[in-house]
Amino acid sequence: MSKDQAGSRKKVEHICNPLAPLPPLGMDSEAISFDFRRYFAHTLGRDDHCTSSHYPYKALALTVRDRLIERWKLTRSHYEESDCKRTFYLSLEFLMGRTLSNAILNLDISKEVDQAFIELGINLDHIRESEPDAGLGNGGLGRLAACFLDSCATLQLPVRGYGLRYEYGMFRQHIANGQQIEDPDHWLRDGNPWELERPEYTQQIKFCGRTEHINGRVRWVDTQDVLAVPYDLPVPGYRNGTVNTLRLWKAAATDEFNLDEFNAGSYTESVETKNDAEHITMVLYPNDASENGKELRLRQQYFLASASIKDVIREWNEHHSDFSDFAEKNCFQLNDTHPSVSVAELMRQLMDEQGLSWDRAWAITSKTMAYTNHTLLPEALERWSVKLFECLLPRLLEIIYEINARFLGEVALHWPGDTDRLRRMSIIEEGPEPMVRMAYLAIVGSFSINGVAALHTELLKQGLFHDFFELWPERFNNKTNGVTPRRWLAASNVGLRQLIDEQVGNGWISDLQKLEQLQSQADNRSFQKKWRQVKLENKQRLAELVKSDCDVDFDPEAMFDVQVKRIHEYKRQLLNILHVIHLYCRIRAGDTENWTPRCVLIGGKAAPGYQMAKLIIKLINSVARVINRDEKVGGLLKVAFLPNYRVTAMEVIAPGTDLSEQISTAGKEASGTGNMKFMMNGAVTIGTLDGANIEILEEVGEENFFLFGLTSEEVESRRSHYAPNEIIENDADFKRVMKLLESGYFNQFEPGIFDEIVESIRSPYDHWMTAADFRSYIDAQDQAAQAYCDQARWTRMSIINSARCGRFSTDRTIAEYNRDIWNLAAAPAPEINGV
Ligand SMILES: *Cc1c(COP(=O)(O)O)cnc(C)c1O
Repeated sequence: MSKDQAGSRKKVEHICNPLAPLPPLGMDSEAISFDFRRYFAHTLGRDDHCTSSHYPYKALALTVRDRLIERWKLTRSHYEESDCKRTFYLSLEFLMGRTLSNAILNLDISKEVDQAFIELGINLDHIRESEPDAGLGNGGLGRLAACFLDSCATLQLPVRGYGLRYEYGMFRQHIANGQQIEDPDHWLRDGNPWELERPEYTQQIKFCGRTEHINGRVRWVDTQDVLAVPYDLPVPGYRNGTVNTLRLWKAAATDEFNLDEFNAGSYTESVETKNDAEHITMVLYPNDASENGKELRLRQQYFLASASIKDVIREWNEHHSDFSDFAEKNCFQLNDTHPSVSVAELMRQLMDEQGLSWDRAWAITSKTMAYTNHTLLPEALERWSVKLFECLLPRLLEIIYEINARFLGEVALHWPGDTDRLRRMSIIEEGPEPMVRMAYLAIVGSFSINGVAALHTELLKQGLFHDFFELWPERFNNKTNGVTPRRWLAASNVGLRQLIDEQVGNGWISDLQKLEQLQSQADNRSFQKKWRQVKLENKQRLAELVKSDCDVDFDPEAMFDVQVKRIHEYKRQLLNILHVIHLYCRIRAGDTENWTPRCVLIGGKAAPGYQMAKLIIKLINSVARVINRDEKVGGLLKVAFLPNYRVTAMEVIAPGTDLSEQISTAGKEASGTGNMKFMMNGAVTIGTLDGANIEILEEVGEENFFLFGLTSEEVESRRSHYAPNEIIENDADFKRVMKLLESGYFNQFEPGIFDEIVESIRSPYDHWMTAADFRSYIDAQDQAAQAYCDQARWTRMSIINSARCGRFSTDRTIAEYNRDIWNLAAAPAPEINGV
């Protein structure tokens, strides 16, 4: 579309007359079966010779999508007509996983689809397996965004997600010679039946160039423009007629790219530059909890911010003649600092494109932006060099300077003469290479700043953001994370869902506190027996996954001890493997009286440039190889590294887990959400007093949680006199573990490869203090093993963990965001056929 066409769009009348409304689509098995066959045979043109399950998958996806689209349109027009306040959730990551099963569950057509496929004689599980994960995120932060969208739709809140449509999502991981290999994830290769392209809402995004200041007006000129084309994904609420939107932007070249070159006759060179534009949304950066400072990443951030804000203002201008109540009707929630350039971009669009004064634009911006912090790790705090900003986003830098100047004026008034504070709080970090501190930009521009678990928010207020907390205490609030019970229990653990439904009805799926009713059954023998049977079947399913992906035999009768999450030193997969080596030492020494057989599963991706994390993967695999092959060990201990941990894998892992490993160094894990998925599915946690573990412990009590380790305060006070070598020397078990590791026993043909790991454990500067928690971890593990032996006791603990997980539903989290930050009214769209 040319600029002229885009500009005149508003004046164009509807191309077609309003069409007569269609009758609602049938939700029964006959209608579903008919549509499926029609899509398969006519739309996709397949016949009985089709051997790939891709086409049946696509036919079913289209069948389900039609039923979503009916409700999607009604939701959209309902929001539009009611002119309700709206929230826009801006995130560089949405780790959605698969869509099909969730859509079927939320549309309440599970039985009908099952019935249709029984009659068609087609295995529905195979079809489900054909869907690739939408892996548009790294880990917890991206998955949180996905769970939030589900809860917003379920609570019927007018919230739209904005993100990027990466051509390549999170890399696929495979293991060769014990090491992580990254493979590109071209998830869109076979098309994406869930997305709807919306070229009519294409936006033009500026980069580079320079600014002109004429008569108080600013023009950003000589820019290199890139088009942002939106693709919409439906986000259905749970059986309530609401279907919200996740809008993902794809970068495309403008038609008028490189006219100079074009006119100089370099046609092919000119077309080649098309690639540069399209590169912006080519790939997700695979760093979790660390920034890498690449220019393309800043381009992605600005591209998302600018396109999304333009889209919101475009819609606003369709129905409003000025911006007087814009702040009362719109809210932007920033998922970490990644989209925080939005603060300056909203100012720019309001002033330069909509003609507002600085003061009016600032009054609006600072009442519409809200910022969620996700980490205290210094290496994750985003800073961009002023030089890069100046080159890539010159107009934005001017605005940031002005925001900073006015802000520092306010600080100076509050603390006259405190120049050190001015230096500390400045959005611009001075030095040989001046930097823009994105978190400070987000704080200064936001009316709400939240952490993601009680401890994390306290640490933010006392540490990282203390100066800001002193200035604006009222802006700080906590919103403990959650996970959606639709995906993480109802859809992924069908056995447990049925058992719970039998016992307490199915109201818990949209009101998770109702699971408290299970507590009365915690000691009921016959209920316990059913509970164990469900767990056993889920463990069999997990054992099959481990067999097929790791070629290791897990016995479902053994305790399944699982740690799956990104590989990071702060998460201490190392501590886990030290315990595994300790168990192995005990077996070698014949110390196996009253032994609890254990299957240890570890999985997760390392950032491709994070050498230590990759070495930890290699160590896990090396230890697993030795232990699994040692005949002395037999069924007492098995160890496996599950390659390519992702949402779809977690849907099998959490239901089949007995013991959930949440063993980060206290004060480092902002919240954790894996811990909640496990708890919901009846796993018992072994964990430190970190992130949301603390709140899980509060819910279940110490008798239903294996607590160990230093507190975050103890961690900090120990640093000055931390002496790991002494700890090792004075602990015979620890000494034995280190001796075996240092002997090269696990790396016979690769001498010395684990030296760096050994050194890190023995270093007095080990930031993660692995050695400090070794003894209490081993003791807690021993208690877990004892508890597992007592079937009735363990089952009771398991039931109580599920029964008390209500607080960790994102329905609760989102209700709090709405109560304290967004203040949206629920806007239920009319239902069709009762859904
Ligand atoms: C839930 C989830 C995470 C977050 O796990 P933590 O244990 O909280 O780090 C990461 N990746 C995937 C695929 C998940 O489903």
